[in-house]
Amino acid sequence: MNESKTNEEAKKSLNFIEAFVEKDLEEGKNNGRIQTRFPPEPNGYLHIGHAKAICLDFGIAERYNGICNLRFDDTNPVKEDVEYVDSIMEDIRWLGFRWNEIYYASDYFQQLFDFAIRLIKEGHAYVDEQSAEEIARQKGTPTQPGLESPYRNRPVEENIDLFLRMQAGELEEGRMTLRAKIDMASPNMHFRDPIIYRIIKEHPHHRTGTTWKVYPMYDFAHGQSDYFEGVTHSLCTLEFEVHRPLYDYYIHLLKKDNTYLPRQIEFNRLNLTYTVMSKRKLLNLVKEGLVNGWDDPRMPTICGYRRRGYTPQAIRHFVDKIGYTKYDGIVDVALLEHAIREDLNVKAPRVSAVLDPVKLILTNYPEGQVEMMNAVNNPENPSAGSHTIAFSRELYIEREDFMENAPKKFFRMTPGQEVRLKNAYIVQCTGCKKDANGEVEEIYAEYHPLTLSGMPDSNRKVKGTLHWVSVAHSLPAEVRLYDRLFIVENPSEDKEKDFHELLNPNSLTVLTHCRVEAELQKAKPLDHFQFQRIGYFNLDPDSKDNTLIFNRTVSLKDTWSKLKDKL
Ligand code: ATP
Ligand code: MG
Repeated sequence: MNESKTNEEAKKSLNFIEAFVEKDLEEGKNNGRIQTRFPPEPNGYLHIGHAKAICLDFGIAERYNGICNLRFDDTNPVKEDVEYVDSIMEDIRWLGFRWNEIYYASDYFQQLFDFAIRLIKEGHAYVDEQSAEEIARQKGTPTQPGLESPYRNRPVEENIDLFLRMQAGELEEGRMTLRAKIDMASPNMHFRDPIIYRIIKEHPHHRTGTTWKVYPMYDFAHGQSDYFEGVTHSLCTLEFEVHRPLYDYYIHLLKKDNTYLPRQIEFNRLNLTYTVMSKRKLLNLVKEGLVNGWDDPRMPTICGYRRRGYTPQAIRHFVDKIGYTKYDGIVDVALLEHAIREDLNVKAPRVSAVLDPVKLILTNYPEGQVEMMNAVNNPENPSAGSHTIAFSRELYIEREDFMENAPKKFFRMTPGQEVRLKNAYIVQCTGCKKDANGEVEEIYAEYHPLTLSGMPDSNRKVKGTLHWVSVAHSLPAEVRLYDRLFIVENPSEDKEKDFHELLNPNSLTVLTHCRVEAELQKAKPLDHFQFQRIGYFNLDPDSKDNTLIFNRTVSLKDTWSKLKDKL
């Protein structure tokens, strides 16, 4: 009985796609073979939405001992580039997935062309001489049938001749198209004689060069590519649901027997608050210099998250948590931030950095004396060990941690009050010095020598603990603070405004006078840290030996959460 309960529970935890796959396996479909694919178009860098598709495509294959191939849907040479092909492979590997084979839709250009010729010969396709705009105008509406093209009933020989001339480069781009001859009155608009081939001569293809002058439309390549490869489960986002009957239609004309048909299953696309996910918009942000490239840490691209300090584990965990459904929605970006906080909490060593430094002078501490204080690397993980941090008479603390005339509940540095300096002594503030503008230049305090951990007075009750670095031993650093790239929750929804108007003008703040503890000299690019009391940071790859640059991955707490604002 216990066992059946466990089975039941396991079933419940399946997402609906896994449930379909298991049913297909139980029914013995495809002889138990499971094959998926991840099919990006190499026209941009991968974003976190793609990560959701990747986790599913590769995850299903892993879970059911199948294979997942990477297939580049490279049917449009105008927008595609090897730069994107390379970055896509790098990002998938970084996420921790390995494909079985790499395929390209362009590998099937000959087969697709031959199939198009066959469709013409069998009366299923014709060459149209109308412009794409004219064709669109004749499409009709879901409730009104479309108009038949005047070229719809040309003789087969004429169609063949024109299609071959299109491919021979004799005709200008846009001059003619090849259309499937299906049904201009179909309730499914995709069946109203869709264009299946268009002429593209001016852009060489990143793999096939100038061999082809005609290129298949995505809809004419995608389903057949799945079929050529033997994909059993073709997982894609919901907007392709209405395309599925068309894919099935082509495959039925193409296939030789009834043993196999790829099964397409659609799931909801990932949308995140304060984020745009369309590759076209992301490309615009890059091209217009509104961000510093595809891997700008404010971008929702995989390489952007990597540079910002996100981990593959956090992204995968996030995708796992949001799950797969049959309806579209928008996920709170705070959920993603929560996932990275959780992961870094156990991984990131704690270090000290002062972002807005002001000097603190311990007037009773011997000049020239230096003590190496012990600093635990990660209280969540005892095996992470510890390091030392130099303590001396002159320190830096955060400017905002001092107030000359503080309210009662200010538990930080203020004259007369005691605070603990993290990993070091309890000190008591005695005053400060200000410049002509009234700006605090130096803060003074006295230290209590017997308050180090393990000493008689170490248990003295003080309410505040401040982080600090030693003036003489710390290193200069630049710190880049990132905020949300958009100021509205759903920038794609606001059709009135151009997305440019919705950009957050304060999405990047660069602090150039920060000080970090000497331990960070050893940091390597992309290493993670928790700057105590501030947040999680990583070392930016642009850092040089004499200029350390850190990115803020995420703050320690969710400062945007409406709930917390109310508390
Ligand atoms: P865009 O519309 O932004 O250009 P796309 O869907 O055209 O994106 P592709 O390169 O064709 O991008 O996508 C490859 C795969 O990733 C497809 O199977 C697609 O369904 C999936 N995918 C793309 N965006 C998302 C998303 N936001 N959430 C989940 N899956 C996605
Ligand atoms: Mg696409």
